[in-house]
Amino acid sequence: TKPVYAFEEADSKQRMLLGGKGAGLSEMTRLKLPVPPGFTITTEVCNKYYENNRKLPKDVMPSVMKNIEKIEKKTGKKWNSTKNPLLVSVRSGAAISMPGMMDTILNLGLNEKTVEGLATQTQNPRFAWDSYRRFIQLFGKVVFGVNDEKFDHVLESAKTKQKVKDDSQLNVESLKKIVSEYKKICEKHTKRKFPDSPNEQLGLAIEAVFKSWMGERAIVYREKNNITKDIANGTAVNVVTMVFGNMGDDSATGVVFTRNGHNGKKEIEGEYLINAQGEDVVAGVRTGKNVALLKKEMPKSHKELSDACSKLEKHFREPQDIEFTIEQGKFYLLQTRTAKMSAGALVKTSVDMVKEKLIDKNKALTRIPAQQLEALLHRTMDESKLKNYKQLAKGIAASPGAASGIAVFDVKKAIELGEAGKKVILIRKETKPEDVPAFFSSEGVLTSLGGKSSHAAIVSRGMGKPCIVGCAELKIDYDKNTCTANGKTVKEGEVISINGSVGTVFIGEVPTVEPKVTKDFEQILDWAQKTKVLGIRANADTPEAAKLARKFGGQGIGLCRTERMFNANDRIGLFVDMIMAENAEKRAIVLKKLGQLQKSDFKQILKAMEGYEVTIRLLDPPLHEFLPNPEELSEKIQKLKAKKATKEIKKAEVVLKRARELAEVNPMMGHRGVRVGVTYPEIYEMQIRAVFEALVDLTKQKVKAHPQIMIPQISSIAELNHIKKIYDKIKKEVETKNKMKLKINFGTMIEVVRAALTANELATTAEFFSFGTNDLTQGTFSFSREDVEGKFLPEYMEKELLERSPFQSIDVNGVGSLIKIGIDHGRGIRKNMEVGICGEHGGDPDSIKFCHGAKLSYVSASPHRIPIAIVAAAQAAI
Ligand code: ADP
Ligand code: MG
Ligand code: MG
Repeated sequence: TKPVYAFEEADSKQRMLLGGKGAGLSEMTRLKLPVPPGFTITTEVCNKYYENNRKLPKDVMPSVMKNIEKIEKKTGKKWNSTKNPLLVSVRSGAAISMPGMMDTILNLGLNEKTVEGLATQTQNPRFAWDSYRRFIQLFGKVVFGVNDEKFDHVLESAKTKQKVKDDSQLNVESLKKIVSEYKKICEKHTKRKFPDSPNEQLGLAIEAVFKSWMGERAIVYREKNNITKDIANGTAVNVVTMVFGNMGDDSATGVVFTRNGHNGKKEIEGEYLINAQGEDVVAGVRTGKNVALLKKEMPKSHKELSDACSKLEKHFREPQDIEFTIEQGKFYLLQTRTAKMSAGALVKTSVDMVKEKLIDKNKALTRIPAQQLEALLHRTMDESKLKNYKQLAKGIAASPGAASGIAVFDVKKAIELGEAGKKVILIRKETKPEDVPAFFSSEGVLTSLGGKSSHAAIVSRGMGKPCIVGCAELKIDYDKNTCTANGKTVKEGEVISINGSVGTVFIGEVPTVEPKVTKDFEQILDWAQKTKVLGIRANADTPEAAKLARKFGGQGIGLCRTERMFNANDRIGLFVDMIMAENAEKRAIVLKKLGQLQKSDFKQILKAMEGYEVTIRLLDPPLHEFLPNPEELSEKIQKLKAKKATKEIKKAEVVLKRARELAEVNPMMGHRGVRVGVTYPEIYEMQIRAVFEALVDLTKQKVKAHPQIMIPQISSIAELNHIKKIYDKIKKEVETKNKMKLKINFGTMIEVVRAALTANELATTAEFFSFGTNDLTQGTFSFSREDVEGKFLPEYMEKELLERSPFQSIDVNGVGSLIKIGIDHGRGIRKNMEVGICGEHGGDPDSIKFCHGAKLSYVSASPHRIPIAIVAAAQAAI
């Protein structure tokens, strides 16, 4: 390969070599779309630059200069000319787009002489000097690392001095002063003269782009987004002939999506600014005009834009995100890439593009990152409750979903508080790429400046976080840490709520409601249901959850945790009474009451899941989880003593004694699961009976109920057989009493390492297996699942000892091997044995991919994640 390719000669399929931007520019050039001439320095050169101790390989600059000559021929402009100077932009671009992560230098090639040339040639000195000051600022920032604020300061005071509001109103005299101030800033910073030779400028700029690849911002972005070397290895540099959107009122620059990135509608969506240059739109310095207006203001260019949009969509078969510039009425394209859209827009465009025969159903399914669907399943604000809250302000809806949290105006503070577990809403005038880490630790983002294409909007949408931008009525005061709108002030730390779907901001925590599934989403789910092989079941413990799961497309319940039923307020007391009962007789009375409650719950859940299997797990947690914490209780007793409440003290002391008896050093590996069933058989008896009796009632009502009973924490066949005897006894009793045959599958969880290793023994009794991957992961790593995430795990990931938390995504090599052993053993005894997984992993797309490959029967996930699981399962099957 060569180090440098002109756009027309590059092979645009080589994204890894050319980067996304370079590939897009060369593809558009081939499509005969109006792209200013230019060339790409490959990512390979970037890697050589690093191998070469951060020096450009010798053959690069000669190649670059040859390509500059090619541009000169095409444009008739001349490099370093005082008559018709050729200016270029220097732009980074890796194989994966990293929006705004690396800065572009515009107007390169200007110096004291060429700027005069540009002024005379265009007869527009204002434009020439405006371009020059932009160049120095960007060059100073990117190449020399000068703090942006220093330049902003000069610009602001120039505006004040000339008494204007907008950059575009500055006159030549002001601009010349700004230029000389800017240069002084750079020279003070670098202790060298500002480089005047375009050749030197170009060389330095190219190196700066390569350096930015290893800059902190870029490294953090790649880490957070899992961009590894195999998907983007180094950045390319694109050198593009400058075209000017700031040449007057017949010039403009803009950013559009070929379809609405927010809702997916087939309409060109975006913003433009008259008499402005690229960055102005993205940075949100001036709020752009809706592109629909372009049709009135510049009809010819609007037509060229919309033709280009449809041509590009047809070609790439994906909605595109396009940058364009109009120079004195002439239309140019500067970038195209696959549009990053909200989950809703992805769904709608998938369905639409299938209808338009642009893509097939498989492509429609695979182009939606399953994880992103979460946003569609996000809560929205409860409209009926809104009237109780004060609307603080309204801005532009930039990323859908509702979020509440404390107002934080400082980026560092947002990161600190977010990492400490606080819910944070980040409020800023605008955001910059270096603020991205704060996005991760915030629930949502609110800015007072910028439009839908601003940095804050794009980043939030990509992350699926609610975001509002351009909230102009909100006056933010960084010194006082407050924001004010409509006469109301919110201080740092006060709770606000934002609705990124409509753009409204409220004071206080607004209640939210369950999302509704749209027709298009249903269509996608329907295609996915027909494509997937894995079954998708729900982790659901209440009739409501069961109904929700079914609505979302869940086919059965993979895990119904019976203990959750005791957590309800009116029941916990009963359960405590059961634990506290002095003798078996008293315990029997309480258990009977509990049995009635469980039976009625089971009936409702089974009815909600009629026709599908419902796996009911018997009591799992240790009993002391239901009792108060001994320390807290003894504190309470001290207080009661002060009040001399003798009767209450006595009662509390009994509970305290029992709580101390039951306390364990290591409860997760303690007296829980089947071990409770062995020592308190009456509890498991009660639960098994409740399931059987529920089935009796439902069978009489002709409801097709399919309960299954599952035993947690089994480690040996002896334990399982012990419980099976209880099951058999109860089954016989209920069958005899009701004179009917009852079929309830009896199975086990595989969540203890020994269970996986002896699954062939367990399968002689168990009719089904369900891998409890949370506990299995805990046991396999000896990582306490309750503690690690907040303790050493982050450092493990930072130090690359672990790629991801094994509690989020299945550890394929370790836990995955145990699962495979379990399946092989189980199915070696029972050929078509049902084997599923429950646990958090059931809703994780990567784990689902593993489960599909391991030929599991189903995964079980929380109701909200079922649609994600369905789509992920379909993607695994495609
Ligand atoms: P990013 O990757 O951050 O979008 P770009 O390289 O696309 O950076 O450039 C930033 C801005 O500068 C964009 O708005 C782009 O349209 C504009 N721009 C880049 N090159 C040119 C050029 N040759 N002429 C005019 N504007 C340009
Ligand atoms: Mg761009
Ligand atoms: Mg478990």
